[in-house]
Amino acid sequence: MVRRRTRWEIRQAAALLRRRGGHAAWAPIVDAARLARTSTSLHVAEHPLPRGVRALLAPLGAQGRAALVVNARLPLPERNFSIAHELGHWVLHSDALGRPAPRGQRRRQEWEADRFALDLLLPAELLRSVQAERNARFSDLARRLGVRPRLLRRRLAELRNAAPRASL
Ligand SMILES: [Zn+2]
Repeated sequence: MVRRRTRWEIRQAAALLRRRGGHAAWAPIVDAARLARTSTSLHVAEHPLPRGVRALLAPLGAQGRAALVVNARLPLPERNFSIAHELGHWVLHSDALGRPAPRGQRRRQEWEADRFALDLLLPAELLRSVQAERNARFSDLARRLGVRPRLLRRRLAELRNAAPRASL
């Protein structure tokens, strides 16, 4: 049974992984596969996978290491999010990988992995630096950050709603 992680714990875990990969809190992660390679022991591969499969985390993959395989057919922003999501499982749920879990627990783990991905790709510090650029086109901003515009919009709305506590 894996313990539920709080939002704060998830944010800390994402920040730690960023630091391990040498990314400052305000720096975009344009290539999440590279971050996964430099800051985890995972074997990271990009292969064309069947439609509908975004990414896989295999507890024992190539070279006797756990493997993260992402669907090479997906556009870069989708690949980045899928990798960040799987990294969330790797960091937060490694005890439970490959073991069946009750549906409620699975749903919680998916939520936690999504939360981790948002914190990893778009931490509050990075969003604040982006907010200062009022004249930039939204789609250009998103491209520069390696995410889909919808994701950036969602995080900026979260940041606005969290103010003035600013505790995203
Ligand atoms: Zn998942």
